[in-house]
Amino acid sequence: MTAIPSRLITRISEIVGPDNLTRRVEDLHCYSYDGTARPHLPELVVFPHSAGQISEIMKLASTHRVPVVPRGAGTGMTGGVVPVAGGIVMPMTKLDAIVEIDTDNQIGIVEPGVITAEFQNAVRKKGLFYPVDPASLKYCSIGGNAAECAGGPSAVKYGVTKDYVMGLEVVLANGDIITTGARTEKSVTGYDLTRLFVGSEGTLGIITKLIVRLLPIPPYKETFLLTSTSLRRTTEMVSEILNNNIKPCTLEYMDKTAIGAVSTFLDKPPPDSTQALLIVEIDGEKSAVEEQAALFSSLIGDRAEFSLRQATNKEEVEQIWQARRAISPSVHKLRPNKIGEDVAVPRSRIPELVEFIEHLSRELGLIILTFGHAGDGNIHVNIMLDRSIPEEVARAEQAKEQLFSQTIALGGTLSGEHGIGLSKKAFMRYELNEATLELMKRIKTLFDPNNILNPGKIFPT
Ligand SMILES: Cc1cc2nc3c(=O)[nH]c(=O)nc-3n(C[C@H](O)[C@H](O)[C@H](O)COP(=O)(O)OP(=O)(O)OC[C@H]3O[C@@H](n4cnc5c(N)ncnc54)[C@H](O)[C@@H]3O)c2cc1C
Repeated sequence: MTAIPSRLITRISEIVGPDNLTRRVEDLHCYSYDGTARPHLPELVVFPHSAGQISEIMKLASTHRVPVVPRGAGTGMTGGVVPVAGGIVMPMTKLDAIVEIDTDNQIGIVEPGVITAEFQNAVRKKGLFYPVDPASLKYCSIGGNAAECAGGPSAVKYGVTKDYVMGLEVVLANGDIITTGARTEKSVTGYDLTRLFVGSEGTLGIITKLIVRLLPIPPYKETFLLTSTSLRRTTEMVSEILNNNIKPCTLEYMDKTAIGAVSTFLDKPPPDSTQALLIVEIDGEKSAVEEQAALFSSLIGDRAEFSLRQATNKEEVEQIWQARRAISPSVHKLRPNKIGEDVAVPRSRIPELVEFIEHLSRELGLIILTFGHAGDGNIHVNIMLDRSIPEEVARAEQAKEQLFSQTIALGGTLSGEHGIGLSKKAFMRYELNEATLELMKRIKTLFDPNNILNPGKIFPT
């Protein structure tokens, strides 16, 4: 752990102004953690207002070898913003301008500290649509989304953050300010650095501006709740829907434990016999949506294990989404702590993955619930535990290890959208061979030779 020299703190104070940094211990605590609740105190929290200020600070941090952790809204689920090596935490909250919404070219230019839902609302007012919709969208930032390559329910049709980021402004570890990509649909001028930064978890550079693609607002949407008495048939239905020419914009799954945790949000909760459910939404032109909805209803037909209900008004849709988005916070009533993973497997392997997790839960005597973005094979697995019971922690860690092994055996990946951060770095070798990891480390060293940008993340130690 570094101790930041006091002359450096004075210099940073001159750059950002004395009101835009803090060393008060109660403030340091506020910037010591994210959604994983595994805190580590920084030494200093600095709130820059511009790429220029960040550049000046990074030059000093490079010279003095002080770690810097860029921070969005701190909703990350892998410890990405936890300053494990001390140093400076740099929240992007003051870089919060929506610089431009270019309706002619359907692009937005936005600073990283803008909250995702606020950006969505702003572009909607101009008749445009920014589809990236993580369940945390009311709290997380666009910069954090880019750094994690966030996704959400709409990814099954519209893709994830990397599909929308066209270009970036980034401050490098040495203070250089670079730009990547362009505000054109096509650009192949040099390497695709935009894609390299998206998902780089604050380890390669600090994103200070984003050019993002926007879409026209889909004019019409229908929402369905498909409940089932069979877990296996529900998870098989995911591929069946997508292989039958139905293109939903949402295909979310919840098992019975997840349903139980949030059923109080629903005026019409699913019957007790429900083992799992799917939330299915179809959007587009009204006639096309009606055609797709008819196809979907006929696919379900009169199969005894399914019951299909269509939401009839906005309130019902809102309730369904409130319930879906409340799963993560609500599960704590089952056990005080959780290990939350977001593995992804090819869609056709979801039934095997979910059955394996059911088996793990029984074998290890743990509550494990599954839910999430089944349409893109991204299943959230919450292993519930009480961290004050060491023996339970050991069983939960065993469950996590077995989950990752099985995911990789099924052709899947450790993380669909939450990233690696601290919590999955020990498992990187399950998915990537030594040569691949070495190349990634060399890229990191090229961008950040002194290892000051978010050190201790992603790579196994
Ligand atoms: C209830 C809940 C539900 C969630 N649901 C989803 C979901 O559906 N889909 C999903 O993808 N995620 C989800 N998440 C995880 C989280 O919200 C996302 O990872 C989100 O993108 C993080 O954004 P943030 O602004 O909070 O970033 P932070 O947590 O502040 O930071 C995340 C990472 O990004 C880096 N970073 C932040 N800003 C910058 C920047 N400007 N430049 C460079 N690096 C930066 C940080 O160093 C860190 O490594 C959920 C989290 C919660 C708590």
